[in-house]
Amino acid sequence: KTITADDIRTSVKEENVQFLRLMFTDINGIIKNVEVPVSQLEKVLANKMAFDGSSIDGFVRIEESDMLLFPDFNTWLLFPWENDHGKVARLICSVHRMDGTPFEGDPRNNLVRVIQDMKDDGYSAFNIGPEPEFFLFKLDENGEPSMQLNDKGSYFDFAPLDMGENCRRDIVLELEKMGFEVEASHHEVAPGQHEIDFRYTDALDAADHIQTFKLVVKTIARKHGLYATFMPKPLHGINGSGMHINMSLFKGEKNFFYDPETDTQLSDSAMHFLAGLLAHARALTAINNPTVNSYKRLVPGFEAPVYIAWSGTNRSPLIRVPLARGLGTRLELRSVDPTANPYLAIAAILEAGLDGIENKLTPEEAVDRNIYRMQDSERKANHIQDLPSTLHNAIKALEDDPVVKAALGPHLYQSFKDSKDLEWAAYRQSVSEWERDQYLELY
Ligand code: ADP
Ligand code: MG
Ligand code: MG
Ligand code: MG
Ligand code: MG
Repeated sequence: KTITADDIRTSVKEENVQFLRLMFTDINGIIKNVEVPVSQLEKVLANKMAFDGSSIDGFVRIEESDMLLFPDFNTWLLFPWENDHGKVARLICSVHRMDGTPFEGDPRNNLVRVIQDMKDDGYSAFNIGPEPEFFLFKLDENGEPSMQLNDKGSYFDFAPLDMGENCRRDIVLELEKMGFEVEASHHEVAPGQHEIDFRYTDALDAADHIQTFKLVVKTIARKHGLYATFMPKPLHGINGSGMHINMSLFKGEKNFFYDPETDTQLSDSAMHFLAGLLAHARALTAINNPTVNSYKRLVPGFEAPVYIAWSGTNRSPLIRVPLARGLGTRLELRSVDPTANPYLAIAAILEAGLDGIENKLTPEEAVDRNIYRMQDSERKANHIQDLPSTLHNAIKALEDDPVVKAALGPHLYQSFKDSKDLEWAAYRQSVSEWERDQYLELY
């Protein structure tokens, strides 16, 4: 699919578009918007829209603050929901310096760079199928999110339709209008928790889709009097929200992870790639689980991974190899949560896997038993390490991993680390309700 400037001009006229939303993503994965009236269309199409980069987290210092937005025409999309002031269309942009060179602090530019390296190595696509989960909370009378869940449903529940189910259906319909191929949507294990899976696409599209998805979910939820959150663990004692990442490497039209000739029908490269993910798992955690709260999800007992291991049958380990073969042959990384910046996460995952292929790493044996029921000594004997248990430990692991650092490049690595160091320092100093409950009267 290739959309041209003329296609966009035609669409603006035919659909009576009034506003253009230029979207990009900051270091923390937050979507940023510059909205301009349609009178600016020609300027937008000519890569001439400037904005102040110094106000964006992880971008630049004041002295070089002006930046340009280069729209990716292929991301042209009309928001299907009504707006009082006419139709709104969006373009996802890449951030460039005033001299026109791509800015290496833009997470999307970085993913483009990593994908190009992959193509230079002879692969045609890195396919990604995400499974994002989220909670729906009621809005209070001031339109602020409350901590009140709106339903009592559970996994695959067919209970009478509640507000949440209606809202989720509406989200799916809007996504389909926007060209998403939704494969499944269901109530999750926890009350108020939902999952929507869309069909895999190549890495850049998938990252764009994840960002658009979050925007759509939040927008539609509000129309239903609900607040959608992708916070990994909003409530203690029930499952958190993850975003499993299914992935495969393609060469031409062929799935490079599939090999009908081996016992498992997995290719040697699939096993090397898997080994690369395991070898870099600790550093990847910093990127894939980038908030303090992410680590409240990565605990035993709630279907989230805690140990570095893989399995073909069991759903508890970090990586699962689903039974599908042929085109559907894939690895599923189960640690990722929706606070991950998808551009950074996919770039880091890809580089970790390719490092496994390049160095012909081989994984430890699959662990098909429940790792949580093993004794510590047994896990040790099986070389099963644990994932970092805090953001602090994950950042330390990232500091020690040149492959994952290189996947971000020096600029993004530094701004990511600076941002996370600040977050951790602030968290360390806070004193929680839990601590007062535990200690105030005891001591
Ligand atoms: P689960 O069994 O973990 O709940 P789902 O069926 O919900 O899995 O999601 C599977 C995801 O894997 C979908 O997004 C699907 O498009 C994706 N997928 C299927 N084949 C591939 C592939 N070859 N590469 C990457 N993703 C794939
Ligand atoms: Mg390389
Ligand atoms: Mg699923
Ligand atoms: Mg799920
Ligand atoms: Mg899954």
